[in-house]
Amino acid sequence: MKTVRIIGAGLAGSEAAWQIARRGHRVSLSEMRPSVGTKAHSTGLCAELVCSNSFRGAALHNAVGLLKEELKLWDSLIMKCALESEVPAGGALAVDRVVFSELVDSTLRQHPNISFQEEEISAIEGYSAEEPLIVASGPLSSPKLSSAIESLTGDGNLAFFDAISPIIYDESIDTSVCFRQSRYDKGEGDDYLNVPLSKDEYYDFVAEVKAAEKYTGNIAVESDSLEKLRPFEGCMPIEDMIERGDDTLLFGPFKPVGLRDPRTNSRPYAVLQLRQDDREGKLWSMVGMQTRMKRADQDRIFRKLPGLGAADFVRYGSVHRNTFIESPRLLDATLQYRGHAGLFFAGQITGTEGYVESTAGGLLAGLNASLLLEDKPLIELPEETALGALMRYISDPERKDFQPMNISFGLMNSYLNSPNRDEKGKKIGKKDRRLAAAAVALEKTKQISASHMPTTC
Ligand SMILES: Cc1cc2nc3c(=O)[nH]c(=O)nc-3n(C[C@H](O)[C@H](O)[C@H](O)COP(=O)(O)OP(=O)(O)OC[C@H]3O[C@@H](n4cnc5c(N)ncnc54)[C@H](O)[C@@H]3O)c2cc1C
Repeated sequence: MKTVRIIGAGLAGSEAAWQIARRGHRVSLSEMRPSVGTKAHSTGLCAELVCSNSFRGAALHNAVGLLKEELKLWDSLIMKCALESEVPAGGALAVDRVVFSELVDSTLRQHPNISFQEEEISAIEGYSAEEPLIVASGPLSSPKLSSAIESLTGDGNLAFFDAISPIIYDESIDTSVCFRQSRYDKGEGDDYLNVPLSKDEYYDFVAEVKAAEKYTGNIAVESDSLEKLRPFEGCMPIEDMIERGDDTLLFGPFKPVGLRDPRTNSRPYAVLQLRQDDREGKLWSMVGMQTRMKRADQDRIFRKLPGLGAADFVRYGSVHRNTFIESPRLLDATLQYRGHAGLFFAGQITGTEGYVESTAGGLLAGLNASLLLEDKPLIELPEETALGALMRYISDPERKDFQPMNISFGLMNSYLNSPNRDEKGKKIGKKDRRLAAAAVALEKTKQISASHMPTTC
């Protein structure tokens, strides 16, 4: 029997181990806890939930609800244990965290194909197509392993924190106010959407940001690591910039030079630029708007900006400790490292944000490592599925300024390109369009998962 080695028995590593073992292959699972800990974990159990006990929304018109349904069709261990340990949480899937991790832990420890090693791995080596290795060491990968990963990826391809700007849907931007133009007409001349602000609007924005409620860390992050983020000028949160003076943003993300508002044919007092975030131009990121403001305040304050009154957020701004690689440059949508047969990365370290998304990556890496051992072609999942769309997002070589991403219907072309009017011209609501895209995704997942069911258990 051939063996796959996995580094990390978190959500991704546990799911990968299960997918490989149930296909009849051997797994050697290395986990450093409890002898070597992290700042967030407190047990030695597999798949410990480090913060919230929620796997988020369960409804199918919610992208994470769809992703969970797809995972169930793939016989996900994490989903099975989550359902067995479910606690009431309205429309969300929340679990008793101890029962959940104990279930995952005992299932994996009792599996005859899985052996556990309690050890801290500090090198990425010894992998091949015959002996694959999955790196699933998570956002808190140990420093020794992080430096081994950095040696592999090269300088600048491993990040230690997220400083994320919000992304909004194009259809929610008022283009009678926001104008297309590149600074000094560079590039195609109209690559950016620009939000023009008057003097009063700019200083109102600054005052609102100052008064807004902020997270001290986005998700249970240690406050000292936020202090360490301050030197990274390029990714500084807006509130930190404002601390240096009310005008600072005018020389950074609100710089108006080289831009003219076609309505007035003059340079606005301040301009916030929106940059296209997907090939189709359906998603736009707010350049330089990384922030620790609470989501309700982001909603309120960003929607006060001209032309953004109806802004629909795909992702909010945030800052938190997170180790992740520059996946678009390094990984295929199979999660195999480009040019390195047998080396896979999975989970949050690939830039997929969240418990469910991390599990999804573990599932795909486990499946593809198994296919490699079976001498079968690796699979890239169709982009009409939530899992396929997420993997396509993180592995798109055209992607610039990569930052971790949650699953969202905004990543799925099947949703973005779906008509918003029926044959009679009647508007089709967002929820119905999402449900239609979800039905396609589940049908595709059913077909592909059925053709990749294990022959041995
Ligand atoms: C502080 C914090 C809070 C978060 N809160 C949430 C939340 O509330 N909801 C949400 O959806 N997402 C949250 N996330 C994001 C993310 O979904 C979780 O971190 C998730 O656990 C990631 O899954 P993973 O399998 O990639 O990593 P993990 O679950 O962290 O698993 C990685 C495993 O690798 C082990 N490991 C690390 N280095 C080594 C090594 N050198 N050798 C051997 N083992 C090693 C670790 O001990 C760990 O068990 C949070 C992240 C952080 C950092």
